Amino acid sequence: MITREEIAEILRKYDLGKLAIGTLGSHSALNIFKGAKEEGFKTVSICKKSDAIIYKKFPLADEIIFVENFSELLKDKIQEKLRELNTVLIPHGSFTAYLSTEEITDRLYVPMLGNRQLLHWEADRERQKKWLSKAGLKLPRTFKKPEEIDTLVIAKLPGAKGGKGYFLANSPKAFQKKVNEMIKRGLLGKGDVARIHLQEYILGVNVYPHYFSSIIGNDVEFLGVDRRYESAVDTIGRIPAEEQLEIGINPTYTIVGNIPITLRESLLPELIRMGDNVVKASKEIAPPGIIGPFCLETVITDSLEIYTFEISARIVAGTNVGIGTSPYAYLRYGEKMYMGRRIALEIKNAVKEKRVNEIVT
Ligand code: AMP
Ligand code: AMP
Repeated sequence: MITREEIAEILRKYDLGKLAIGTLGSHSALNIFKGAKEEGFKTVSICKKSDAIIYKKFPLADEIIFVENFSELLKDKIQEKLRELNTVLIPHGSFTAYLSTEEITDRLYVPMLGNRQLLHWEADRERQKKWLSKAGLKLPRTFKKPEEIDTLVIAKLPGAKGGKGYFLANSPKAFQKKVNEMIKRGLLGKGDVARIHLQEYILGVNVYPHYFSSIIGNDVEFLGVDRRYESAVDTIGRIPAEEQLEIGINPTYTIVGNIPITLRESLLPELIRMGDNVVKASKEIAPPGIIGPFCLETVITDSLEIYTFEISARIVAGTNVGIGTSPYAYLRYGEKMYMGRRIALEIKNAVKEKRVNEIVT
């Protein structure tokens, strides 16, 4: 684990008056770059050649470092270049999708906005459960063995990206049948079966609230909400039940995009308290706790119970729905505030108060 002292040492060589904001060119990069530019920072995109067209059409990256694949971020030459540019990296979903937790915590010698220690809590389902329970959140039940299944469960494959390959089962028998099918179709290795995570399926709607834990402002801000648009589960309702049965449709959850939502105002108090409590718990498990953006992945039932099935302690791509503004960011900041810009503003305030050390690890 790269220590805060090592990062402080790197920062001492930085020109803090000329910080650049950098990230991998995917996921929420446009959101981050636009926000950085609006707050007066230079931007650096580590970009795949095949994606360069994005930054031609949306000229928001002042520097582009081309790579074949994102794991090249670990190369000494690229890290040196980033430090030379006084870069603060903003981690997002593509970091954990294309690099391992250890690679990020142990080998990335570039200051990152966020708390690297929490990555270990986020990546491990058991630790995540401990963290969220400590914060008093309601979680779906989990099942240690398929034999224990006594209700509808969602089976999550290890390392599945964006919900790809998840499936549902409502009994040990149904589970076995689906597993056999998946193995036959080559979607699952025999060795993976024991690592499938079984979680109670919560019947309700998906709600993903976006928060910002400000170290400089000493507050947890509620800045937006989205739901996901997933293929093929979000279209199944368009096919009549009879045909669904005929073709044996199984819902899959491949993320395609996000849709903004506003919530019943009466749901806000609990969601806001949940964000506060998650930050409070994070300070106990990994001081100084969450730094910057995070998101709770929840399902809200028809009796308005809020279940949390995951946390992301970094910017989520769902905040892209707020680029420009979102109702909740507007309520707090007025016009033109969104997660990418909120991040840049935190860095700007940290520079002003000479507290950059407190927001990067
Ligand atoms: P990508 O760089 O598009 O492959 O995305 C990296 C990771 O972030 C993948 O695991 C995706 O599932 C996740 N991701 C990308 N875009 C979104 C989105 N709009 N909403 C939620 N998750 C996303
Ligand atoms: P994830 O990859 O964990 O973000 O989940 C992918 C999809 O599965 C999302 O549409 C979630 O809403 C859905 N999902 C995950 N866990 C549950 C659960 N316990 N109950 C209902 N839906 C879930």
